[in-house]
Amino acid sequence: MKLKSLVRLVVSLLCISQMAFSQTKMPAKKIDALKKELIDDIEKEKVFTQQMVDMVFSFGELGFQEVETSKYLTDILRKNGFTVQEGIAGIPTSWMATWGSGKPVIAIGSDIDCIPKASQKPGVAWHEPIIEGAPGHGEGHNSGQPLNVTAVLALKKIMEREHIQGTLVMWPGVAEEQLGAKAYYIRDGYFKNIDACIFTHVASNLSVSYGDGGGNGMISVRFNFSGESAHSAGAPWRGKSALDAVELMNVGWNYHREHMEPTQRSHYVVVDGGDQPNVVPSQASVWYYFRERTYQKIKQMYDDAIKMGHGAELMTGTKMAYTVLGSAWPGHFNKPIAETMYQNIRMVGLPVWSADDQLLARAVQKEINSPKTDQRQRPIDGLDTKLDSLTPPEKVSMGGGSDDIADISWNVPTVVLRYPANIPGLPGHNWANAISMATPIAHKGVTAGAKAEALTLLDMFVKPQLLDSAWAYFKNVQTKDTKYIPLISATDKPAIDLNKKIMAEFRPEMKKYYYQPEQYKTYLEQLGIKYPTLKPAGTTKAATAASTDN
Ligand SMILES: [Zn+2]
Repeated sequence: MKLKSLVRLVVSLLCISQMAFSQTKMPAKKIDALKKELIDDIEKEKVFTQQMVDMVFSFGELGFQEVETSKYLTDILRKNGFTVQEGIAGIPTSWMATWGSGKPVIAIGSDIDCIPKASQKPGVAWHEPIIEGAPGHGEGHNSGQPLNVTAVLALKKIMEREHIQGTLVMWPGVAEEQLGAKAYYIRDGYFKNIDACIFTHVASNLSVSYGDGGGNGMISVRFNFSGESAHSAGAPWRGKSALDAVELMNVGWNYHREHMEPTQRSHYVVVDGGDQPNVVPSQASVWYYFRERTYQKIKQMYDDAIKMGHGAELMTGTKMAYTVLGSAWPGHFNKPIAETMYQNIRMVGLPVWSADDQLLARAVQKEINSPKTDQRQRPIDGLDTKLDSLTPPEKVSMGGGSDDIADISWNVPTVVLRYPANIPGLPGHNWANAISMATPIAHKGVTAGAKAEALTLLDMFVKPQLLDSAWAYFKNVQTKDTKYIPLISATDKPAIDLNKKIMAEFRPEMKKYYYQPEQYKTYLEQLGIKYPTLKPAGTTKAATAASTDN
């Protein structure tokens, strides 16, 4: 035993010193000068950044169908010297783009998918879809990759000139709304050689947090029942209704809900309830998300649901099969990297909002009847003008949403940079969250985020002690008592057929609205939208075309 631990100590010391010796070191004065240069360069690139934000907004692609988005982004990266590997983890719209050489290897990611039925004209302060019923960026996932591209290209220029060693790996969060890809990236080994990861996500302030973020992990499962069809009036006794099984499973789960802890969240949609009433449904499916605070509790929900599915099967004489469509761990983020990033956030500061930006924000808040304070009791009034503080871990959490970046965070030291491209107080996953996403609010917020990210990346490449302390936190604090066990099995497959039909229905019409930067300075200009478009004072009716809100 003693010899073993001595060997382990020597090995870990060697590893640490190896990382330190192979990395570029730089005096503090020089780092400060390079940071100022990065801030200036990224500011100069603001038209390029705006074009990327507007372009991805105009694609509006749902999870696993991000064809145009991925093509557009990888084209830019290829033109800038990156080597692109497409279709990673068996996901056609996924990729990894690599530039540089040697250690450290830093992964930079952000989500790219959008929300069903969230099509919305940017800059218009009420519900007005570009295309009725079409998907749209009602989560703001059009902005994170443009931020990353701007930050990384500015940094790459400096790395080349200053001979800074290291590798940049860019990758997309495909189908984040289905929690559909990141656990597969981990399972299939794509993060094995990564030393740290920076992820970016849209928000309404420039901020970062560390430790347990208080969210839930989850597993997404579709239960399919197969029965026997029959004439619903002529011979109903010969039918075995798959829809009955779905309904009985849901009833069972909703009774079970009474006896679950308050931190759980579970919700479902019936994706197939049969074809028409006079045919006993031979096929029916229900799609569940099961969310909880720990792996063990999520697994318990999953096991309970399978039992309930079997119960419904017995009651109806049908056959049940189930398929995992996605999963996510509860997130835990790296303290040393977050602290460093927060110093850089302070150096960058919030964007300066114009009177028009604030007018739009307040009009949208009024339109959707936004609450007056957020969950941390801070006032909601227009866009944030005070920088958020470094967010410590949640002490007590009642649970909440999930993000599969968490699976990366349990395998590699990771932080999530949140940047101010959206309006505070909105419901999320909603058309209202798309309003700011191709306007000066998003453009300025993304530029600010790109600066904070580039400065933090520079720190990672030229301050070897940062990654050493990141890994020390990861090993000695984060994973001391909690070990990552994947929620997906070795045989589960990414649900790459999701959303295929919806995109096939809407894409031909959506294509007519793809952004054309050669012809129009901005997407607002292309759509002929005056910024901001507000309801005339004293009226509740929309000024232009009738609102389609319902
Ligand atoms: Zn998101």
